[in-house]
Amino acid sequence: MTVETKQTARPSFDAASLRGDLWIGGAWRPGRGGDPIDVVDPSTGEAFAAVADASEADALDAVTAAHDALPAWSATAPRKRSEILRRAFELMIERRDHLAELISFENGKALPDAIGEVTYAAEFFRWFSEEAVRLNGELGVAPGGANRILVQHQPIGVSVLVTPWNFPAAMATRKIGPALAAGCTCVLKPATETPFTAYALAEILAEAGAPAGTVNVITTSKAGPTVSAMLHDPRVRKLSFTGSTEVGRRLLKEAADQVLSCSMELGGNAPFLVFDDADIDAALDGAMIAKMRNGGEACTAANRFLIQSGIAEDFARRLAERMGALTVGPGYDPETKCGPMVNAAAIEKIDSLVEDAVRRGARVRLGGKPLDRPGYYFPPTVIEGVPGDAEIRREEIFGPVAAIATFESEDEAIALANDTEFGLIAYVYTGDLSRGLRVSERLEAGMVGLNRGLVSDPAAPFGGVKQSGLGREGAHHGILEFCETKYIAASW
Ligand code: NAP
Repeated sequence: MTVETKQTARPSFDAASLRGDLWIGGAWRPGRGGDPIDVVDPSTGEAFAAVADASEADALDAVTAAHDALPAWSATAPRKRSEILRRAFELMIERRDHLAELISFENGKALPDAIGEVTYAAEFFRWFSEEAVRLNGELGVAPGGANRILVQHQPIGVSVLVTPWNFPAAMATRKIGPALAAGCTCVLKPATETPFTAYALAEILAEAGAPAGTVNVITTSKAGPTVSAMLHDPRVRKLSFTGSTEVGRRLLKEAADQVLSCSMELGGNAPFLVFDDADIDAALDGAMIAKMRNGGEACTAANRFLIQSGIAEDFARRLAERMGALTVGPGYDPETKCGPMVNAAAIEKIDSLVEDAVRRGARVRLGGKPLDRPGYYFPPTVIEGVPGDAEIRREEIFGPVAAIATFESEDEAIALANDTEFGLIAYVYTGDLSRGLRVSERLEAGMVGLNRGLVSDPAAPFGGVKQSGLGREGAHHGILEFCETKYIAASW
C-alpha cells in the first residue's frame, strides 16, 4: 500500500517577530555562549530563525534572577499566584492559533496536533491556578498525646526545568504551572529544536503578571555543561526533567552531588494489548491516537502492538488502511495529518529500527522507507510478525511505525508487555472489564489506558515506573513535587 504525500509551498510566517534572546530577570538579553543557534523547519530542513546561545555564566545569571525573585514570590498570596496562572491560561487560549503555528514550524507536527497541544498545555496553567489555593497541610495529635503534629508544604525553592522538543508547550507548562503555584521560581531550558515556544510562554507569563525573575528561559548549544553549572549551584534545590532515559540517568548522577530533589519524566516503550474479545473498531480508534498523535513522537506512543493471534491479521489490515489514508506533508498545511519528524537523526533511527525488524523476519504491510523529498519525512508504516529479538521491541521508535506481534494467552500478553526496562504507559483493549482491571493491575506501568488510546490529563498523575521516571506531573501530585514537607512538633 502506498502513502499519499503532499508538497505545499511554505506559508509566510513572520519569523522577524519572534523573540530569540535569553529571558532573564524579566528582560531580553543576548547570549554569551557563541553564535546564535539556527532553528530549523523540519518540513523543509531549512533554518527559519535563530536563538541566543547561553553560556554557563548566563545560566548562573538566570539562577541569580530566580533566587532574587524567590522570597517575594513565595510570600505572595496563593490567590494572587493563582490569578496570574489563570490569566496565563486565558492568554494561551486567546493566542492558540499563533502558538500552534509556531509549534508546527519548530517541531513539524500537524496543525490539529499542535492546536491540541496548546489547549492541553494551557490547561496546566488553569489546573495549577486551582491547586495554588488548595495546598493544605495536616494537623494531628502525637500518639503519646504530648504534642501536636503540624505538617506544611513549603516551596522547595529555585527549580531548574529541562524539557524536550516533542511537546514544547505542554512539557513546559506542566512544570512551570506547579512550580509557580507552589511559590517556586524557575529557570527553563527548552530543547534546542523548539526554543521559540518557550520564549513565547515567557512573554505570556510576564503579560499575565508573573514578576521579573520568577520564570527565566535560556537556550544553549551546550546543554550538558550549562545545565550542570546550574545543578551545582547551591541556590538550586530542584530538577524537573522530561526527556530521554539516557540523559535522565546522567542528570540524576549530576543532581546527586547536591542531593537535589528530582522529578524525571523519561522514555517509554508502551505495549498496546488487544484481546480477541475487544471491540475492534474501538481498538483501532485508540490505536490511531496512541500511535499517530504527534506522528508517533510521544513518550506515550504505542510502541509494541501485541494482538491476540486470532484477530491479528484483521487488526493489521485495518490499521494499515487507516494509517495509509493519512496525508503526509508539512505540519502547518491544514490538510496534513502526519507531519515530518523533528530532524534527520530521527529519520535515521526509525529507518534502522524498521530495517532491523525486517532483517529478522518482520513483514512490511505499509510504508517502510523514508520519503525522498526535502524535510524529514517517514511515512505511516505497519510491520507485522515482528520477532521478539527485534530492536524495535526494546527501543522507543518515536515515529509513525506500528510494529505488530501476537500473543496466545493473558499470561503471555502480560509477560510480553512487562518485558522491558521502561514502564511509562500500557494500553489494554478488552470487552471484559474484570479482565481489563486484572491485567491493568499486573502491568508494570505508571499509567494504563483501559479501552482508551489517550490518557494525558492535567487532573491526572502522569508518570512512569522502572526506567521511565520518578515522580508524577499533573493532579495534586504535581504541585507536591515542588514542595518540601515541613513537620512542626508543637505544644500548646
Ligand atoms: P533528550 O535528548 O533527553 O533532551 C531533553 C532535554 O534535555 C533537551 O532540552 C536537551 O537539550 C537536554 N539535554 C540533552 N543532553 C543533556 C545533558 N547532557 N545535560 C542536560 N540536558 C541535556 O530528549 P528529546 O530527544 O528532546 O526528547 C525525547 C525523549 O523525551 C523521549 O525519550 C521521550 O520518551 C521523552 N519524553 C518523556 C515524556 C514523559 O513525560 N515521560 C514526555 C515527553 C518526552 P538539547 O535539545 O539542547 O539537546
